[in-house]
Amino acid sequence: MRVPLIALCLCAGAAFAQMHRIEAEKIRPHVRFLSHDLLEGRGVGQRGGRLAAEYIAAQFAAAGLEPGAPGGSYFQPVPLRSVEVLPGARLGAHAGGKSLEWRWLEDFVGTSHIQQSEASFDAEAVFVGHGITAPEYKWDDYAGVDVRGKVVVLFTNEPPSADENFFRGRALTYYGRWTYKYEEAARRGAIGALIIHTTPTASYGWQVVRANGRPQPQVRRRPGDSALAFAGWITEQAGAQLAALAGEKLEDLLKAADTPGFRARPLGKVRIRGSFRFRLEDIETENVVGVVRGSHPQLSGEAVVFSAHWDHLGVGEPVQGDNIYNGALDNATGCGMLIEMARAWASMEPKPLRSAYFVAVTAEESGLLGSRFFAENPPLPAEKIAAALNFDSYSPYGRVRSAVLTGAERTSFFPLVQSVAERHQLSIRPDPRPEAGGYYRSDHYSFARVGIPAFSVNMGNDYEGKPAGFAEEVSKKTAANYHQPTDEYSKDWDFSGMEQFARFGFALGLEIANLEKIPARVDAR
Ligand SMILES: [Zn+2]
Repeated sequence: MRVPLIALCLCAGAAFAQMHRIEAEKIRPHVRFLSHDLLEGRGVGQRGGRLAAEYIAAQFAAAGLEPGAPGGSYFQPVPLRSVEVLPGARLGAHAGGKSLEWRWLEDFVGTSHIQQSEASFDAEAVFVGHGITAPEYKWDDYAGVDVRGKVVVLFTNEPPSADENFFRGRALTYYGRWTYKYEEAARRGAIGALIIHTTPTASYGWQVVRANGRPQPQVRRRPGDSALAFAGWITEQAGAQLAALAGEKLEDLLKAADTPGFRARPLGKVRIRGSFRFRLEDIETENVVGVVRGSHPQLSGEAVVFSAHWDHLGVGEPVQGDNIYNGALDNATGCGMLIEMARAWASMEPKPLRSAYFVAVTAEESGLLGSRFFAENPPLPAEKIAAALNFDSYSPYGRVRSAVLTGAERTSFFPLVQSVAERHQLSIRPDPRPEAGGYYRSDHYSFARVGIPAFSVNMGNDYEGKPAGFAEEVSKKTAANYHQPTDEYSKDWDFSGMEQFARFGFALGLEIANLEKIPARVDAR
């Protein structure tokens, strides 16, 4: 049936009016509340986190969203297990009567993925270069080697290249991420994996790696899943000692790892020895999911997903007497925007063709665990999710002229995204540091890795009507507060930039929700 043009116009006009219902001063109270000291930093498994999730569910209900989690609730339980390495952890290497013993945190750090109360091994060490199997780049660091029951030793990152067609050139691919290294080693049946840290290969210093010595939540493992008894890092110095024990030089190992045709090899006669005890603790936490059903008889079986993580770091080490990591910018801002986008969406009449899921995910700060759990256990088949838009951390200093849309250029929606940005007078800026792998560090990636076109909607930093040097000042301030108790709400905050980006995100989702046909899917590597 042909829809009369006038009806279409009214419909688009109504949607436009709806978008303008998203207002700065309606986002503010959510951010103020969610980052209040009473919420104790919204820690996963902590009381404040539970309160945050309840608040968001209540807001979804009040806005008219239906419960959207599988099973008909606003809450999707995400079963986590925290693994803490207990004092007395030992790791070292030995060969031909000589042995090395490394010190916890000083020389090595890590965790266990088997989720048992202890682990010990004394196993052959195999050097596997960058630990990558990437058929599309004809690269296989595991070719011709059996690492079952052994400890693989490797460097993070990927073979360096300026060629866009080889590991995406300068940009980091998923193969370069340390999380991938552990996944591949586990798939290969290794008992352990040790990454030799160097600042250039990791793109950050040892102090960042060392922070992984804290108890780390993991998704609770199902019996039979392959997993590493120990997944760790050693310092460059420890790596040099290990190489020397094998009669090799660290720089030669690195050079070999970067060379096409690399072959994995045993590290001389070296064996790696470790013994650990762990404290395991089950953590109950949840994603909050609301849905607005679409109006089309068939297309309403498909959906657009909006996501923002509600969790932050909770109560932790005090800094200057303050132990509450409020996470106001990271990510009470995104949650406030999510709630207001949901409210505007729910009051639209008629409803868009496709359904819209609004998902406040948990455990982002523990490694995107909540979003990954949602994407792997969605309330509708993943192939019915047309797109996922993620919202994380917004600047409280006013409107800007540009957007950074991490991952949008990898989706077939990009031309549409460009036209919506243009309509919103936003220019699209590329990721300023693709080599840091930001694409893999935000919740949109959890969706992309299961084949859903997904990206994050971020603010650029060219502020409207601000003096020269303002953006630099803001980034300095933001960097200083990042993951600190000083990431706090202030009544001076200007929410107009969040209003701008919630409207922009809303418009993007709306365009996609109303498309007659969805273009082809995404490549997430
Ligand atoms: Zn964060």
